[in-house]
Amino acid sequence: MGLEDKLPEGIITTQLESLVNWSRQNSTWPLLFGLACCAIEMIATGSARHDISRYGSELFRASPRQADLMIVSGRVSNKMAPVVKRLYDQMSEPKWVIAMGICASAGGPFNNYAIIQGVDKLIPVDVYVPGCPPRPEALLYALDKLREKQGRETFAKYRRNELAEAMLSPQDMDSLEALRAKQFA
Ligand code: SF4
Repeated sequence: MGLEDKLPEGIITTQLESLVNWSRQNSTWPLLFGLACCAIEMIATGSARHDISRYGSELFRASPRQADLMIVSGRVSNKMAPVVKRLYDQMSEPKWVIAMGICASAGGPFNNYAIIQGVDKLIPVDVYVPGCPPRPEALLYALDKLREKQGRETFAKYRRNELAEAMLSPQDMDSLEALRAKQFA
């Protein structure tokens, strides 16, 4: 007994939140950029053999303003760190990050002054992918895990993010030079 019983056949009811999450889960567009060898595996994920488009994520966008997923595929050097941060800041909310491979996740074999020991020191990471390099299947599995996470998100969380963003003025945002200075401090 409920509203469903009174509706004609072929009509379904759902929550707006579930509908929005469902659409985001199935159309997450990654940013078109790669940092090192892991990027080759990321590119292979888009091939017909692996078929990233089964998740609606085949549209790698060249502009951060049109992307909502950053796949950090490779080691992040100190030189690239301010650029990665700037690109992330230019992506609109809601946005997600996958750290692909051990280098992006924790520095990998490059335990030295030139490499950031995990991109989560710069930006928040949603899913970490182990391996050196992870195979395309591992990236697809990470995407699946991200979709699970997206399915649990709420409007209240987005609102909290918006409030946090609203407190930032353009003057509060670090310039590339300031970010670089922090890296070398
Ligand atoms: S995890 Fe391995 S394959 Fe990936 S960027 Fe590092 S060294 Fe290259």
